[in-house]
Amino acid sequence: NISEKAPIIRQLDDAAINRIAAGEVVERPAAAVKELLENAIDAGARQITVEYADGGKTLIRVTDDGRGIVASDLPLALARHATSKIDGSDLLNIHTFGFRGEALPSLGAVGRLCITSRVAGQAGAEITVQGGRMGETRPAALNGGTIVTLRDLFYATPARLKFLRTDRAEAQAIGDVVKRLAMAEPFVRFVLRDVSGDGPGREVFRAEAEQGDLFAALHGRLAQVLGREFAENSLPIDAEREGLHLTGFAALPTYSRGSAVAQYLFVNGRPVRDKLLVGALRGAYFDFLSRDRHPAAALFLDCDPTLVDVNVHPAKSEVRFRDPGLARGLIVSALRHALAKAGHRASSTVAS
Ligand code: ADP
Ligand code: MG
Repeated sequence: NISEKAPIIRQLDDAAINRIAAGEVVERPAAAVKELLENAIDAGARQITVEYADGGKTLIRVTDDGRGIVASDLPLALARHATSKIDGSDLLNIHTFGFRGEALPSLGAVGRLCITSRVAGQAGAEITVQGGRMGETRPAALNGGTIVTLRDLFYATPARLKFLRTDRAEAQAIGDVVKRLAMAEPFVRFVLRDVSGDGPGREVFRAEAEQGDLFAALHGRLAQVLGREFAENSLPIDAEREGLHLTGFAALPTYSRGSAVAQYLFVNGRPVRDKLLVGALRGAYFDFLSRDRHPAAALFLDCDPTLVDVNVHPAKSEVRFRDPGLARGLIVSALRHALAKAGHRASSTVAS
């Protein structure tokens, strides 16, 4: 209708911008847990405790013993696009989980967020933000490290609350996130507790810090997370091609599953769900498994950060390789080689 006046363009305020961004960064409680865990790991934590109540809907609390945040920086930690991890000059060379400076402001926009932190040798401090409004920085007592408490996630966006699943399903997703990161960080101790209700809470998962070299530590951690049976029925993988490193453990075909639940893939330490890599895993077992079986594996691809773009999506579970064929080829050949060496003959050969 031409007779109508043209609409006026307005700049959105920070609270609205953060709420919109939050829609992408935090879809559900498990996504909030992932962001907070990654921050703890980026801060060099050796021990991380995650607590949640009611599937994370009413409470998520992550406590770490990492470097902490300087008191005067607390408001900045909650500001949009503020990060201590990159200076913006080299987006292709990222060595930390975080770099967008989006998680904390987003969480503060959709829940009641409190950050308590203390850097060694300094006084502790705390700041809260609710519905995007930040309080004053106040002194707080704690030993060291950081405690992030997120209450009433999505209380400000009831439409989003409605889309959450049952407490049980959300708790399950939280457990999944914690376990994936626990596989990637075998030297870090993880404890996950459900503190719903009035009692002392219930421990859901624990992985003690592993010792020794990375391979031994990884094997021990996989036994803790995926179970002894996986650890005892899997082959060590260690291969390299043109700057791309593949390590991890791949299960024997006899350990295969009827569903693809036990496939864990990591790129530069990040858990990923990447079609290319899942396809490569399937391809590697193609001759060793019948079509209705799924291989189990925990595989870590590591390369120079310039060879892979992790900047694809805020939730960052997809990656883009500069040379996808190289990644696929390495996985297929390394796994096929290990399976053949372990005496597993291709099913086509068995049949003939
Ligand atoms: P990003 O992780 O992308 O930098 P975040 O919004 O997640 O963005 O965090 C903002 C900043 O707050 C981080 O760059 C870091 O300096 C600080 N920070 C957040 N969580 C922690 C933590 N657990 N320990 C120490 N510093 C933290
Ligand atoms: Mg972060």
